[in-house]
Amino acid sequence: MLAEKTSVCTVCRLSETRTNVVFGSGNPNADVVFVGEGPGQQEDEQGLPFVGRSGQLLDQLLGEIGLQRDDVYIANVVKCRPPKNRDPRPDEIDACKGYLKSQLELIQPKAAVTLGNFASKLLLRTDTGITRLRGNAYEWWGRLLVPTFHPAAALRGSARVLNEMREDFQLIRAIIDGKLTRRLPDPVVEPGDPEPDPEQLDLFN
Ligand code: URA
Repeated sequence: MLAEKTSVCTVCRLSETRTNVVFGSGNPNADVVFVGEGPGQQEDEQGLPFVGRSGQLLDQLLGEIGLQRDDVYIANVVKCRPPKNRDPRPDEIDACKGYLKSQLELIQPKAAVTLGNFASKLLLRTDTGITRLRGNAYEWWGRLLVPTFHPAAALRGSARVLNEMREDFQLIRAIIDGKLTRRLPDPVVEPGDPEPDPEQLDLFN
């Protein structure tokens, strides 16, 4: 099983300092998968994603659009805590991205929601920052992707960040209700490129 394989992973240096691998949690048949950056201290201790303050805000925002944690699936770009919560390094993201890809292939969600720069840049294969990306739903391998801020940015930042996250969560609600019509092309797929096969998510190439 993928979770078991991940739990003993030693491919990158993050395995040397982790307490637990944080594989992901939630509904394996979810329509929506949230992708964060990487575990923090509490997540590392408990082996579960988003159990700290960021997780409380995520729960609140989910609740505001009528969802609970069990309705969605939550995972991260890197499955092991970077020491002192530093940013994950490119080689660590590279070492870990196959696990996320497998998770998304197994769940086959209607939509992915990327929380913050690391997840948004990885899944949309772009260098554009989250402030410019957010506010839209993008075509993403025959599905939809909604990039939004990381909850930690809202906890650190101004009311504007939180309000913009609320706007983005309304897009998620609209996707679930089948009401979303506004979507932008994948930022890097050029017109004329072959149609991606939605059954085979080739997310990171
Ligand atoms: N921040 C993340 O990006 N992921 C978690 O699981 C917790 C905090």
